[in-house]
Amino acid sequence: MSELARVDGVRVGFDASRALFGKPRMLWALDGVTLSLTEGRTLGIVGESGSGKSTLGRVLLGLLRPTEGTAHFEANDLGALAPEPLRLLRRHMQLVFQDPYSSLHPRRKVGDAVREPLEVHRPDLTEAQRDERVLSLFEQVGLKAEHLTRLPHEFSGGQRQRIVIARALAAEPKFLVADEPVSALDVSVQAQILNLLLELKQRHHLTMAFISHDLKVIRRVCDDVAVLYLGRVVEQATTEKLFAAPRHPYTRALLSAIPRLGGAPTQRVVLTGEIPSPLAPPSGCTFHPRCPLYAKLSAPDQQRCRAERPLLKDGVACHFAE
Ligand code: SF4
Repeated sequence: MSELARVDGVRVGFDASRALFGKPRMLWALDGVTLSLTEGRTLGIVGESGSGKSTLGRVLLGLLRPTEGTAHFEANDLGALAPEPLRLLRRHMQLVFQDPYSSLHPRRKVGDAVREPLEVHRPDLTEAQRDERVLSLFEQVGLKAEHLTRLPHEFSGGQRQRIVIARALAAEPKFLVADEPVSALDVSVQAQILNLLLELKQRHHLTMAFISHDLKVIRRVCDDVAVLYLGRVVEQATTEKLFAAPRHPYTRALLSAIPRLGGAPTQRVVLTGEIPSPLAPPSGCTFHPRCPLYAKLSAPDQQRCRAERPLLKDGVACHFAE
């Protein structure tokens, strides 16, 4: 299988001098991320709030230009494309947001909302073909023809997410970025939407980046996982490998919080403190102030953690990972 999208050495910085009363400072939301997405597979991007997950999703879609590094979709360097070719390429790359209500116009009939991408990206279709396609999309996401003329507030949260998914699929994309697509939904509805996404992925041969803070959801949906901490990938592996044998202390702590069905119970590793501010990241390995392994190391090894940034090597960024 071939590579569909990739980012290389991506850094995304925001000028934070205003927040610091004029003191020049960059806030690095992403700080040197390299990863790729293979055609037909789903990459889970997981991490706490503030880890840079959503920023990475937007870079992958060309909605945000990296400050440094490159983002490619197929052979296209998204940062080097002029606005018009980028707009044409967007047909193949779509985003599903966390909050379906805010991504639908409150006074626009949902059938028209799903039809809109066809008007933008498929001028070759006749009106009748567009009608047919909108109806087919509604049926694929479990909605009916009678829903087409209703407004967003007439639907439940799960139904609204179905509408948003139908709209994302309207222009027949190759690549879908789903940014926390079920975290605003009730648990019972989450399972239905995840099943729907899995089914549609098969049916439309989609490649997906699935952003979530919830490892249970990632395990269910994704083929591969990248774990982000403070704008850097700290571990990357196939889902099977990551869940069977996590190597980075941060991944281990995240996994230890998931209750296991059957098998020996794992010892819960509780991380102390919040993720640090990207305005003042810790030196060396940015995870060292919270790292459970760091506390068990010798003084010289701890000094190494504080001084030297670990690079991602063989899928893990830790000087002392097993
Ligand atoms: Fe922990 Fe050191 Fe590994 Fe960082 S490099 S994760 S501080 S052991």
